[in-house]
Amino acid sequence: MKVYNLACLHEHHFEGWFSSEADFLSQQSGGSLCCPICDTAEVRRLPSAPHIGGRALQEQSQPASTVSEPAQTIALSNSDHGQLEKQIQATFMKAMRDLVNKSEDVGSSFAEEARKIHYKETPERSIRGQTSTDEVSALREEGIDVLALPKIPLLKNTLQ
Ligand SMILES: [Zn+2]
Repeated sequence: MKVYNLACLHEHHFEGWFSSEADFLSQQSGGSLCCPICDTAEVRRLPSAPHIGGRALQEQSQPASTVSEPAQTIALSNSDHGQLEKQIQATFMKAMRDLVNKSEDVGSSFAEEARKIHYKETPERSIRGQTSTDEVSALREEGIDVLALPKIPLLKNTLQ
């Protein structure tokens, strides 16, 4: 999605949303792009710098070689969006690994150890291990913070 600053023949300024530059160009040349104020199809794209005071004057006084600033938009293209998701996933996986690496593996005595820590019978620390989902809910009811991790094959592999 692209957002362009547009202006018509009569200097009415407005924004147009397009799926791509090609979409904008085809709408512009096809005459389907109209000014929302006066309805003329004589619409041109403005440089993307937002809200320039005295725009007409500045445009005239600027040397022709001036390169306009690249547009700053928050709309992500599909590929950027995928990239972002991958980054979030990577960050999440790293946080999980750190958590796992920092905790002590108590194996199948997880529930027992978690209770000991909660009731201060043993020094407080992060532990990991296996327990049933029933035990997890029982621990939670006792006010013990338990994070149930899904069994992620990737996590297992990277730990070996
Ligand atoms: Zn207009």
